[in-house]
Amino acid sequence: MTYDTENIFAKILRGEIACDKVYEDEFALAFHDINPQAPVHILVIPKGAYISMADFTARAPADLIAGFFRAVGQVARDNGLEAPGYRILANAGDDAHQEVPHLHIHIFGGKRLGPMLTA
Ligand code: 5GP
Repeated sequence: MTYDTENIFAKILRGEIACDKVYEDEFALAFHDINPQAPVHILVIPKGAYISMADFTARAPADLIAGFFRAVGQVARDNGLEAPGYRILANAGDDAHQEVPHLHIHIFGGKRLGPMLTA
């Protein structure tokens, strides 16, 4: 599978589409999900053309992998989620209903969350 450079998160990274940004550094961009599923629902994406976690961890340089995961933790801390708790999730592929083919980690929080999976 080749990376679709016209996916919506690629356009957000290029600044062609606006987002409600909560964090940015050289490795990652984080913004509020347009259709939140919890009081806090933030997406964190790496700055690079990666479709999924498998793709990212196979091809990305080590500093980007480290920087991306540091950013996920930073966003959780910055948004006051560490003490009450939160959930991270990354969908990959059809079975998981991945809508946007650019790796993204969802951060959910701000309430007592429901069961981990609904199937
Ligand atoms: P997925 O199903 O791929 O894991 O999740 C994609 C997420 O991206 C969904 O939660 C959806 O609401 C969100 N989303 C889709 N398009 C946009 C957009 O243009 N802006 C923002 N902020 N979120 C988006």
